Amino acid sequence: MAYSDRFAGKVAVVTGGASGIGKAIAARYIQDGGKVVVGDVQIEKFDEVIAELGAENVVCRKCDVSVREDVDALIQTAYDKFGGFDAMFNNAGVNIFKDFLEFTIEENDYIFNINYRGVFNGSQAAAKAFIAHGTAGAIVNTSSINYRCCGPNTTPYAASKGAISVFTRGIAVELAPYGIRANCFCPGSTDTPMVGKIARDRFPNYTAPKLAIKRMADPSEQAAVACFLASEDASYMTGESIFNVGGWGIS
Ligand code: NAD
Repeated sequence: MAYSDRFAGKVAVVTGGASGIGKAIAARYIQDGGKVVVGDVQIEKFDEVIAELGAENVVCRKCDVSVREDVDALIQTAYDKFGGFDAMFNNAGVNIFKDFLEFTIEENDYIFNINYRGVFNGSQAAAKAFIAHGTAGAIVNTSSINYRCCGPNTTPYAASKGAISVFTRGIAVELAPYGIRANCFCPGSTDTPMVGKIARDRFPNYTAPKLAIKRMADPSEQAAVACFLASEDASYMTGESIFNVGGWGIS
């Protein structure tokens, strides 16, 4: 049951929206009255996304966030289908769980090329479009608990998320004169294809002792925070990295 129409008449672009947290963001934005353009490389999941979210509410387009032309075309889709957009969720991301001493530089570059470069591409393309159309838009970037706490096997990933959080602080300063806000949310362990199975298989006893709330988050619990940051309720917030981590690291 929808309890808000705060996004009525509004449109969001969500990268990595075919799965996990991105799909939950798209669902919540639509539940609260908005329309969504999803960009993802997993085009085989588009039929499922459209069936779940409704063909009248969502448009899916193939987009590799590391390719600027793809990101520009994704944003153009929002203008073509819905007449513009108000929020950019740069959420697409990848991880390789591996001991630092085993990591290759190619694997490191793969992570940065999608995680950080994707956020650079999406943030800049969105900001240019917002400014050109006079939209006081919101940019919401997906960082991670690993910006604050590093566990084993995630060092280049954590570094890419640190880059995203610091980058977001920088663009918040540079874009405030245009009325554009930019924030990050930082999920803790969340039950998605990226993390759920790996967390259960590899770290059954690793995360739980660090958590006050002793379970993984549901993707909808991350979407709630992401959509708050895109909403008018966050009108005085910019440059922040908001942790939604079940109390990870507080004790
Ligand atoms: P997921 O694998 O379910 O979703 C990631 C999506 O990004 C997938 O649909 C994938 O196809 C897409 N993607 C990958 N490379 C892409 C590219 N080059 N261009 C466009 N799309 C691409 O994983 P998730 O857990 O939902 O992850 C979403 C975001 O949340 C990521 O940025 C991830 O780093 C972050 N995150 C997740 C957790 C967690 O516990 N699940 C914790 C902290 C941060």
